Amino acid sequence: MKLYDTQSRDLKEIVSTNGILTMYCCGPTVYRDAHVGNLRTFMLADLISRTVALSRVKVRLIQNITDVGHMSEDFAEDDKILSQATIEKVSALEIARKYEEKFHSDLSQLNIGKADAYPWASESIDLMQSMIAELIHKGFAYVGGDKTVYFDARKFDGYGDISGNKLDSLQPGHRYEYHNDGAKKFHADWALWKTAGERSEMIWDSPWGPGFPGWHIECSAMSMDLLEKHVDVHVGGIDLRFPHHENERAQSNAVIGHEAVDVWVHGEHLLFEGKKMSKSSGNVVLVSDIVARGIDPLALRLCFLENRYRSQMDLTWNSINAAHETLKRWRSKMSEWGHSTAITVDPEMESAFKNDLDTPKVILRLREIEKSELTNKRELFMFADQVLALDLDRPIAVRELTEQMQTLIDERAKARSEKRWADSDSLRVQLESLGLHVKDTSDGQIWT
Ligand code: AMP
Ligand code: ZN
Repeated sequence: MKLYDTQSRDLKEIVSTNGILTMYCCGPTVYRDAHVGNLRTFMLADLISRTVALSRVKVRLIQNITDVGHMSEDFAEDDKILSQATIEKVSALEIARKYEEKFHSDLSQLNIGKADAYPWASESIDLMQSMIAELIHKGFAYVGGDKTVYFDARKFDGYGDISGNKLDSLQPGHRYEYHNDGAKKFHADWALWKTAGERSEMIWDSPWGPGFPGWHIECSAMSMDLLEKHVDVHVGGIDLRFPHHENERAQSNAVIGHEAVDVWVHGEHLLFEGKKMSKSSGNVVLVSDIVARGIDPLALRLCFLENRYRSQMDLTWNSINAAHETLKRWRSKMSEWGHSTAITVDPEMESAFKNDLDTPKVILRLREIEKSELTNKRELFMFADQVLALDLDRPIAVRELTEQMQTLIDERAKARSEKRWADSDSLRVQLESLGLHVKDTSDGQIWT
């Protein structure tokens, strides 16, 4: 399988060391619900796992849970979890566990397979401390004037290879990472262990005094420990290229003495109605919003698959609704096409998956197969669904239309013809509560 490697800026064949593909995906910072943009990135690791499974390659996937150390991007240096704990008036740990649970439920609703481990940052403090000690020992880190431990960026050759942001072009003053108050030697050095200062919650003892870990060291420590010092594929959203992944690479490589990650894969951002989905843009959509509209969450998965992971995609309610209709149609055709559980390999779809996850091509091919005269359509769809994971063989539930429903449908048609819009709306609500989905078209209302 080939994937686009951000570092070499080229497609790269992925290779599993020891017969098991080791993969690391940067996980959520659990201080709020994951929005569907975050989930698009988490789905990327799942698509890679499912594609290599077609060749019977096993995957070991680690995804961290950031419950300490992720600071807000403003100059206030607030820990995201601690700030949310203050807002919700509960402990930081309660915040972290609440949103972690929601994260797992979102993953399962989108058929995103489970990672082999979800290590917590707060439970990996010893691991991070021993890595920091090693970095100091090897001369890559130092204790600054403020008792915070910093990575000495200029000691690491090749800083900037992933993002193109070389040290000599980085200006002082870039966000909170680049205070130049004399505590660190160079403006681009970053904190590995931050001194506690005024903080009293989520702090730990360390050889450098009480404090808490920086965000970047978390992923180095966990990936190097749990994947035995080599990551075949590293996954994250495009915004993590810099500084997060640049710093992670420097830390891991400095400790092991060679390249720790083979392929850096980045998913592009999801836009919603033209703007990057983010809390600050106020255009966040959650899986629960989709479910609340009576839409199968896998319709969202289908929307994502219709776009290549490397392209920015603009999500709209129209595209989600259209995907929902397609999904229903495919499932009902699958029942018409029989009950076989057999799978027929389709070389065209297989090579599309393996060619940098060209899922839009696979979806087009399915549309072609749907319209064709082939007699093994079900088996071909079953093949694709191993990676698409849209539950295409889920039987359509058929329910009786009751007399009461029929009466309401007739009344609504009458209300519409008499332009009694308020009555028509309230009848729609009644029908929806009975499980009927009503849509108005130029030929009158239709329902499913
Ligand atoms: P966070 O929980 O903020 O650490 O983000 C988790 C993951 O979601 C990271 O890999 C981010 O790069 C990714 N991410 C954030 N916003 C978006 C977006 N709008 N579209 C796709 N991925 C995103
Ligand atoms: Zn990370």
